[in-house]
Amino acid sequence: MDFFDLFNMTIDGAQTASAKRIAVYNPATGEVFAHAPDCTPAQLESAVAAAEKAFRSWRATPLEERRARLIEAAACLRRNIDPLAHLFTREHGRPVEGARQEIEDAARWIEAVAQMPIPEHVYEDSDAQRVETRYVAIGVVCAIAPWNFPVSLAVWKVAPALLAGNTVVLKPSPFTPLCTLKVGELFSAIFPPGVLNVVSGGDQLGPLMTQHPGFAKISFTGSTATGKRVMQSAAQDLKRVTLELGGNDAAIVMPDIDVDEVAQKIFFSSFINTAQICVATKRLYVHEAIYDRLRDALVAIAKNAVVGDGAEQGVLLGPIQNKRQYDRVIELIKDARRQRLALIQGASVPVKGYFVPVTIVDNPPDDARVVREEAFGPVLPMLRFSSVDDVVRRANDSEFGLAASIWSKDLQAATAIAEQLDVGTVWINQVINLRPDTPFAGRKKSGLGVENGLDGLLEYMAPKSTYLSKAQTRT
Ligand code: NAD
Repeated sequence: MDFFDLFNMTIDGAQTASAKRIAVYNPATGEVFAHAPDCTPAQLESAVAAAEKAFRSWRATPLEERRARLIEAAACLRRNIDPLAHLFTREHGRPVEGARQEIEDAARWIEAVAQMPIPEHVYEDSDAQRVETRYVAIGVVCAIAPWNFPVSLAVWKVAPALLAGNTVVLKPSPFTPLCTLKVGELFSAIFPPGVLNVVSGGDQLGPLMTQHPGFAKISFTGSTATGKRVMQSAAQDLKRVTLELGGNDAAIVMPDIDVDEVAQKIFFSSFINTAQICVATKRLYVHEAIYDRLRDALVAIAKNAVVGDGAEQGVLLGPIQNKRQYDRVIELIKDARRQRLALIQGASVPVKGYFVPVTIVDNPPDDARVVREEAFGPVLPMLRFSSVDDVVRRANDSEFGLAASIWSKDLQAATAIAEQLDVGTVWINQVINLRPDTPFAGRKKSGLGVENGLDGLLEYMAPKSTYLSKAQTRT
């Protein structure tokens, strides 16, 4: 398979081109380097029809067989990790090592999901009756992925949906369609035709999908603004929805920490993947006793962090993935300058491409845009605090509720703070650790429903309760 040429959709098991195409940019240069198909309405119809047809046989395929196909899919990703990672770096910008990690994470995720038990409940099994609940597949799933982790976040949807016995039409972001299209092509040798369809296209394709009556469920990861539109569109047919949306995660750093050690971890959680992570640290609350020391330690790391083309050796942080996001982040920095906030920037960045230097905003007011909004780029506000009650109130004062972290040697005190935070995931002395067996769910405007863990798997299934009367069999 050629990984750098010919990007096709997978519809009903066939590699499918389209008359129109969308341009794909390398964010490290800002130049077009490939094209992806722009799915027509008729091609979307074919994909949904193929998925509907395949659903009848895939849901009847023994669970053990579905598990085996998923395990094969994970192995296939690993076998192709090198070309996929290089392609990933070109379309996404992330340094090759991180790109390999993305593919490896996706493989690991599929393997773990493939082994998840599906529960059954028996409430009564007496002489009179048997009452039980089993979980069954629901139909065709519409999976819509964002550009920040295009492969692994698609897998978060596809793996549980397929294990459950559903079929899928997957759409990557128009900014990062290529690796996902190649994964569709690779997997077409593993799953029967129509079980996993991958379509790509421009801005019109997402709404076309969410309006389509053929889908039983929409699983969406992206921004809160788009998530609202997806939910509105799903209401038409009362489709089920899972929405994983934006975040503005707080980290709370207590005065008893080891500054140098925690600075490394905070820098990682705030800036890795050029801060384009839903659960990145986006508001850093630091106790006044260590504020200056931690700020200086972070600045020292920032000054040494190499920002550049992810295809080059030694680069830690790549560009912002796309021009639209780049413009947003630049505007946020300009706004901070207009407000005369104190900005400290890290190592200089290349002029060409969508590069932004690591930027720390030194103790801005709580109502600054850079504190209220999700930057989704390397701009981190650091905020002083002196009392725990005050910092808990400020951390919770956000429309988002995705995740948070607390840093302290006093685990009891840290746990007490964790309990007061209105978020779906909280880390103590660690951060960005997500597992396939552990539910991940945003609160407030960070989302609706759950991904991962048994709760996440069951979002792709419906409980079906059976009441069986045994009275007649006894006579
Ligand atoms: P986005 O909302 O712009 O796009 C997400 C996807 O939705 C893309 O595939 C896009 O083409 C599609 N889309 C756009 N308009 C649509 C519409 N009207 N109907 C249906 N689909 C439509 O988001 P993005 O910029 O790709 O991703 C960044 C955002 O995603 C950030 O806010 C980030 O926090 C969030 N995110 C959340 C999680 C999570 O798990 N909570 C994970 C990653 C990213």
